[in-house]
Amino acid sequence: MKLPPAVRLVAVSKFHPLENIIEAYDAGQRIFAESRPQEFLAKIKVINSLDKYGDIEWHFIGHLQTNKLKMVLPYVSLVQSVDSERLLIAIDGWGRENGRVTSVLLEIHISGEESKQGFFADEATELLSRSADFPNVRFCGLMGMATFTDDDAVVRADFARIRSLFDALRSGVMAGHPEFRELSIGMSDDYLIAVEYGATMVRIGTDIFGPRNY
Ligand SMILES: *Cc1c(COP(=O)(O)O)cnc(C)c1O
Repeated sequence: MKLPPAVRLVAVSKFHPLENIIEAYDAGQRIFAESRPQEFLAKIKVINSLDKYGDIEWHFIGHLQTNKLKMVLPYVSLVQSVDSERLLIAIDGWGRENGRVTSVLLEIHISGEESKQGFFADEATELLSRSADFPNVRFCGLMGMATFTDDDAVVRADFARIRSLFDALRSGVMAGHPEFRELSIGMSDDYLIAVEYGATMVRIGTDIFGPRNY
């Protein structure tokens, strides 16, 4: 996988066994992402019992229910998939109780698909204008998933939209917040396009681990 040095590779290990994570670790990979709390916790428990893997950086990229926070937040350095204000309030509250500031990305609804999660541009802008209301949350940027299609023009339009929102936020309501600097776009099928649109992280599962058995 050839990525410019400024783009971080997030290995998406959901549905893949621990052996695959360890194999990728031994090949040098250090950032991994999971999307299901139960599966994540099971893996974390085993991995944390071995002393070799303490420098793995875990990201959470799936839909997170507010009653599952304690299964996820203690173990992750970034939640990429904050998709509602309700979740944000819960993460902030958890941080207040546990003395932790959680780094997050806001998931943006960039595709035309109804099924996708996330904030619309105006919602994200309004929410971030109140970022000080969430003192236990560190807003580090945006995440988005392009439309599932073979049509590159559609994917480009999706990435162009999230990029221009990202730029507008950085020079607008998030000016003065240098930590707001991550644009997580691109998966196995579209990461090369995402890099053209300024991705700082790409989330790759299939291209690293092969197809998932759901
Ligand atoms: C599963 C998943 C990925 C990885 O998808 P691949 O097509 O296997 O690379 C990336 N991002 C999110 C949010 C995912 O759920």
